[in-house]
Amino acid sequence: MIGEIVVFRAFLNFLFPPRCPSCSAYVERRGIFCAGCTQRLIGLHALACTGETQKYLDGIWAFAYYRAGVRDLLRTLKYRRQKSALPALHTILTMGEAALAPLPRPLVAVPVPLAPQRMRERGFNQAEEIFAPWLAAHGIALRPMLVRTRETAPLYERTRTERQRELRGAFALAVDADPAGRDVLLVDDIMTTGTTLTACAQVLKRAGACRVYAFVLASEHL
Ligand SMILES: [Zn+2]
Repeated sequence: MIGEIVVFRAFLNFLFPPRCPSCSAYVERRGIFCAGCTQRLIGLHALACTGETQKYLDGIWAFAYYRAGVRDLLRTLKYRRQKSALPALHTILTMGEAALAPLPRPLVAVPVPLAPQRMRERGFNQAEEIFAPWLAAHGIALRPMLVRTRETAPLYERTRTERQRELRGAFALAVDADPAGRDVLLVDDIMTTGTTLTACAQVLKRAGACRVYAFVLASEHL
């Protein structure tokens, strides 16, 4: 049986040679990035928590940089609703195993929620799709403890005050969610300004969560 799988894989690789999911260069095996793209796109890094963010978040880490390549994969997933982008995104997470080392356990993971209408249109929450297998592999439960009460306007090119105003009251605790006394790990696809993560962390901390951390697949901060 294993022999058959090896032969089949070799045949598949002959017909469809594995390529880098970012630049399409040939690579050794399916699901990995070429050396150049790995260097340019992938790398676990801590993001600075300052001001409001520091008040509610105890640490934020990103696994990759939001540049062409990772950006295309995330857009394919979110706007074209193609889950074919997921294996490459999962590969990025497996390259950041060290992310969990400084965090307390047990942890409960909470995805940044979408507004109900956006969720209906897209059919899935990208944060869950990206992080669920990786969290499961590490024995961390994923619980939708937050809801987004309304759709919010895009936050880029806004001032900090405008962003905070736009998000005020946009997140709430889900029915039956009880983060009191727990350490929470927020997960999301990208972080631009940190305002969204901060607003989510604020709801969790006000409901009694101990420490709140965040993992994002990619950050726009360098
Ligand atoms: Zn590449």
